Amino acid sequence: MTVPDRRFTADAEAHRRDQPRYCPACAAALDLASEFWEGDERRFYCWCAGCGWTGEVTTTGATARGHEPEH
Ligand SMILES: [Zn+2]
Repeated sequence: MTVPDRRFTADAEAHRRDQPRYCPACAAALDLASEFWEGDERRFYCWCAGCGWTGEVTTTGATARGHEPEH
């Protein structure tokens, strides 16, 4: 019995779990989600064809947000 690569499996599962599927604004299915890293954060840049919402979803806070707030 072969054991799947834990790292690969975990990463694939994390991708499926973390990738946003629905628009936080209108709950339509998101058309585009591009994944990238910034520091230690995995981010998904999403665009909704339904309402035009764009924003980043990060996995660290599990929250959706748009543009960076003022610091
Ligand atoms: Zn939307």
